[in-house]
Formats: sequence, C-alpha cells, structure tokens
Amino acid sequence: MNDFRAQWADVSSDVLSAVQAVGESGFYVLGEQVRAFEGALAKAAGVPHVIGCASGLDGLEIALRLTRWAAGTKVITTPLSAFATTLAIVRAGGVPVFVDVDESGLLDLDVVEALVARDPSVRHVLPVHLYGHALDLERLARMRGKLGLWIVEDLAQALCARFRGIAVGSVGQANATSFYPTKNLGAMGDGGAVLTSDLELVERAKALRDYGQTGKYKHELIGLNSRLDEVHAAILARALLPRLARWTATRRAIAERYRRELAHPHVQPLPAPSGSESVWHLFPVRVPDGRRDSLIAHLKHEGILSAVHYPVAIPDQPALAGLPFECVGELPRARALCRQELSIPIHPYLTDAHVGRVIAAINAWRVT
Ligand SMILES: *Cc1c(COP(=O)(O)O)cnc(C)c1O
Repeated sequence: MNDFRAQWADVSSDVLSAVQAVGESGFYVLGEQVRAFEGALAKAAGVPHVIGCASGLDGLEIALRLTRWAAGTKVITTPLSAFATTLAIVRAGGVPVFVDVDESGLLDLDVVEALVARDPSVRHVLPVHLYGHALDLERLARMRGKLGLWIVEDLAQALCARFRGIAVGSVGQANATSFYPTKNLGAMGDGGAVLTSDLELVERAKALRDYGQTGKYKHELIGLNSRLDEVHAAILARALLPRLARWTATRRAIAERYRRELAHPHVQPLPAPSGSESVWHLFPVRVPDGRRDSLIAHLKHEGILSAVHYPVAIPDQPALAGLPFECVGELPRARALCRQELSIPIHPYLTDAHVGRVIAAINAWRVT
C-alpha cells in the first residue's frame, strides 16, 4: 500500500542534509526548524497559522481544548474514521455523538445540521475529511456562523485538499493533521500539527503542546508534552513538503485512471463529494456483502495488497464500552461500509505499470 524504500531512494540525500543541519545547529526541540516548517506548511496548506506537535491525536486533543471546552462537552463526529478521531474527544474529557455517513463515507452534514438545529446542548462538531476528500466547507462555514458551532476539522487524510477553492483546515476554529508515515505528508516517524486561522489561539496551542507553559516555569494550563522534534521538522520542511505537490498530482492521476478504467460490475468506486478537490489519500471501492474476502484473496494472489478502512464502526470498539457516548440512529451507512469497503493501492511511487496491473487484476476477478 506504500513504497517507503522507493521513497527513500528519492528523498535520502535531502533527508541526510536536513539531519546534518539539525546536528550542526545543536538544537533538538522547538527551534528554528520547527518554526520554518510551520511557516512553510501554513503557506502550502492555505491556513494562516500552524503549530507543530507530536501526533495527529495530540493535535486533535489540543484543537478541541482551544474551543469553548469543559469536561462532558458533547462532540458530533463520524463512526467511520481512524480510532484516533474519537480517542481525542475521549482523552480531552468530551462525549462523542456519532452521526451516520453519506454516500461518500464522510460525516452526513444533513443529519448534523438537523441535530444541532434541534438540540442547543450540542455545539461542537469534529468532521473528518476522510479518504482525502474535502467535506462541504461552504456549508460548514455557514453552519458555524448561523448556529454558533465550534468546529474542529480532522484533516489527517486530506492535507491541501480544497472544497471549491476553500482549504481544509481553514473553516474550523482549530483543526489538526498528522504526519504519520502513511499520510500524504508522512514524516519518518510520528508528528502532527494544529492549524488555525485565529491568531488569538496560537499562543494557547503553543502552551498546550509544551506542559501548558506560557513562559519558562509559568504553567497556566494543564498541557501535554507534545512537541515536534527539530529533526522531523527539518526532514519535513526540506525533503518532504517540497515534494508534496508532485505527490498529490500523481495520486490524482492514479485516481483518475482508476475511475476511467475499473470496469468490474461488483467493484464500485465510492463517489467523491461534488465540489471536493480531493488529494486521494486512499482509493476506496465497495463490493457487495460477502464478496470482499474473495476480492482481497484474488488481489493477494496477483501480488497486490489492499486494506479495509474501516472494518469496525468506532462505537463498536471494545475500548468505548462503558464510556459515555451517543449514536444518532443505527448508523446503517457506516456499518455497510465496514462490511463492503476496500482500499486499493494509491501512492506516489506507484508506476503506470503497477496501476495497470491493479486494474487488470480487478477487472479479471471472478466473483466467488
Ligand atoms: C492518522 C489519523 C489520525 C491520527 O494521527 P496520528 O498521527 O497517528 O495520531 C487521526 N485522524 C485520522 C482521520 C487519521 O487518518
């Protein structure tokens, strides 16, 4: 699903010189490299302020705590995402409220809007730009203004995606992304960031990532140790971020080709939301109930890996048993995708020949 060795062959000399620069600086945590990376990412992502931190999970927790926050705050979110999305709400002391997904697999904003209109006790929403697609940001911006919502966008899978020109991470008051290695901008290890358009939140975010310090030995908040390392920031800024636009273009070309050439009647690409300028973190298809294992085995036999995103709806995870959360209805669309979704390979080091082999293998699948 990824080819980190091919990536290393491409990026190694830039990575090694980035590490060299950090070594020579003699400075390892929250220094010049982190500041430079934060500035460069803000420009690339189209969001005014970026605050680096140690992971996407921490970024989401910090972002939630930048909103109007108290223990027990209800947060609407999606049952179909990385578990970290919900984990951030729970770790921050909030209560997840799960709303079903739409036909693309993303949080259904019709249901969200109806819920916040009838229940004034719920003002927080944590939507996920899943699979590299941008949710309807015009609508989220309207809902934020009209209904007084606090929005925390999870853009871990969609850095640099846009909705009709609006950047992901620019509509929520505080938002977060991840640099986990498999993400579109993946570090050589863990990392994450908070993104915001609100300058007033920047100092608080910086305090929260660093023990809640607002000055040396001055702790005004109960913070985390969630600093971004200089070495990761340098690698990201010098070796990886400069390649992101090209990587995204490759992902888009592969997605386009899949959409044009996949022709199996039982393999339906999930539709991208209309208006989304997607960055194709994943390429999800759906297959009928009971057929997914057959397709996985057929692809494996052809030497092609695939993966399920996600096999279990988050409210069904054992870790949530006994914790407070709510579900709006039975979440039938999310549960159907848990049974039917399959992600086929899409990454920037996939060659035209590889993509052709995936397409040929899928089109030749004999359904069993
Ligand atoms: C990867 C991911 C996260 C968590 O990021 P980490 O850096 O692994 O903590 C959160 N949300 C989504 C949607 C993700 O894909």
